[in-house]
Amino acid sequence: MLNGLSLYAMNIEHRHGGRDALGYLVSNHLIRKAAFEAVQDSAEITLLADSVISSVNTTDDAAHLTLADGSRITAQLLVAADSRFSETRRAIGISASMHDFGRVMMVCVMEHEVPHQHVAWEWFDYGRTLALLPMNGMRASVVVTMSAPEIEALMQMTETDFNRAIEQHFQHRLGAMRLRSTRHAYPLVTVYPDRFVARRFALIGDAAVGMHPVTAHGFNFGLRGADKLAAEIMEA
Ligand SMILES: Cc1cc2nc3c(=O)[nH]c(=O)nc-3n(C[C@H](O)[C@H](O)[C@H](O)COP(=O)(O)OP(=O)(O)OC[C@H]3O[C@@H](n4cnc5c(N)ncnc54)[C@H](O)[C@@H]3O)c2cc1C
Repeated sequence: MLNGLSLYAMNIEHRHGGRDALGYLVSNHLIRKAAFEAVQDSAEITLLADSVISSVNTTDDAAHLTLADGSRITAQLLVAADSRFSETRRAIGISASMHDFGRVMMVCVMEHEVPHQHVAWEWFDYGRTLALLPMNGMRASVVVTMSAPEIEALMQMTETDFNRAIEQHFQHRLGAMRLRSTRHAYPLVTVYPDRFVARRFALIGDAAVGMHPVTAHGFNFGLRGADKLAAEIMEA
């Protein structure tokens, strides 16, 4: 963990905790693939992948959904996991506090000249935060957090200019760097609803707690929420 221009870094090592590893970095597309494979053949789960919800309402006995194609679904419980900007949460009437940091995170994969030694970096620099999450080989996931106009400029740059700009942001610690993926930008907004449940309705995932991505725990926390809700349903 690096702080501004300081040459001192906070090192957190698995050896301190007597463990094999502090944790594991798993690419999101592999998690999504595994989740899909886990449900696609289940007789108890019907996947409606290309559907969009157009309206919802609940009564004491049931939740009613209408999809964009006009079809209707009735269920005993509606669980919404439709992102931190959940439209379903809004439609049910649950209010939420949002904090817009006025900053945007840009994520991409880059190849670099100097080995990362499988160390993850979090660098709280002046005016920007940089993160480097090691991947196999000489590649890493790079996360840059800056103001919206600065990120917009990075998104629009030619690949050559982009490579030079990122090398400079990392102060050439990784040598020459080359973009190896598309660039993705996420506005930094945290969200916390006033309630997690309503009549025949529950929130999980980011719809329940949209935390700051610097914690790198939103997905993990979402899994905990799903597990907790399942236990509550079994008990009920
Ligand atoms: C840059 C970045 C880095 C992160 N790094 C980490 C990390 O290292 N570790 C970690 O644990 N977490 C991390 N997170 C957080 C993690 O990505 C989220 O917590 C997680 O994706 C939340 O999952 P979710 O399913 O609740 O919501 P989402 O992933 O937002 O998915 C919501 C889904 O609902 C769909 N949807 C929305 N509205 C509708 C509608 N009306 N009808 C039908 N479908 C709809 C959307 O299309 C989408 O597929 C990171 C987040 C960011 C932005």
